[in-house]
Amino acid sequence: MFSRILVEKSVKESPIVHGILERFKHVPYQEIENIDDIFGRVKKPYLQKRDNLQLFLGKKKGQLVKLAPDAYGLAGEPHYYFIHAYNCIYECEYCYLQGYFHSPDIVLFLNHEDIGREIKETIAKHDQTVWFHAGEFSDSLALTHLTQELPFYFDLFKNLPKAKLELRTKSANTKELLKLTPQKNIITSFSLSPEKRIKKTDLKTPSLKHRLKAMAELQKVGFPLGIHLDPIIHEDQFEKSYQELFEEMAEYLDLENIEYLSMGVVRFTGSVFHQVKKNYPQSELLAAEFHSSFDGKVRYPKPFRYWILGKIKELALQAGLREESLYLCME
Ligand code: SF4
Repeated sequence: MFSRILVEKSVKESPIVHGILERFKHVPYQEIENIDDIFGRVKKPYLQKRDNLQLFLGKKKGQLVKLAPDAYGLAGEPHYYFIHAYNCIYECEYCYLQGYFHSPDIVLFLNHEDIGREIKETIAKHDQTVWFHAGEFSDSLALTHLTQELPFYFDLFKNLPKAKLELRTKSANTKELLKLTPQKNIITSFSLSPEKRIKKTDLKTPSLKHRLKAMAELQKVGFPLGIHLDPIIHEDQFEKSYQELFEEMAEYLDLENIEYLSMGVVRFTGSVFHQVKKNYPQSELLAAEFHSSFDGKVRYPKPFRYWILGKIKELALQAGLREESLYLCME
């Protein structure tokens, strides 16, 4: 999976680092002073992630917990995200990470105690429920068998009933999660799309069936689940594809007990849109009409977006989701 592993001296004695080096013992390894001196210093084309992906292990410096953008999660409560990794092993054609960092290399930060401290400080500033989202710059579950941080966050949030944690993923890698006791304030949320769309656009991600099976297993033993239908991409037979998606979801899941379902239509910042055109010039994503929108993002025209969202909402309600569990993402 990795062409080289670079480890900051500050974490080289960590048992997690030892475990990773043992697992990848044939991969060249190098000690470094500071990830920031190397990662992204020289621009590395995004698609090199296919055959030349490096892994960095170290500590995140600076601010670890940040306020999430408006309309990021359920309305009415503050939302923050924390940073424990950069980049992702999957390759979705619309992924905003391709315009965000100068490198697709994976960075895993191991100073979770520092993140935990900032989470507690953030909670202390609020009187209401505060949300924390893992995986803003990565996938929250895909590498948890290597990173082993889930027990730390489960312990942390057990003692923080005023806070909620969202683990956001496209992975079906739930083995580490299933070793833990479900907690009401930790929600695992899965991004889903129609299977045909996953095959065409969400390269290397687990199939819809694999994700749904993983979700069903978690729900059966009491893990609270969320669903993100995001990004929704219009295509021929759009309604039929989403009708089938909801039918498949209903086959595997108790949809009435889903904590929330978010709906977000495909959108890009200008720089990501440029990267998508460069990296995936043949992508079906680019077939539609896009406009610069109210927040500078490139989107479908507003009436079209609202028509799409209306259809999805209708299908969600027909499938048995509770109206109060539905929200629009980034609209
Ligand atoms: S799973 Fe998420 S983070 Fe990973 S490539 Fe796809 S969109 Fe990007």
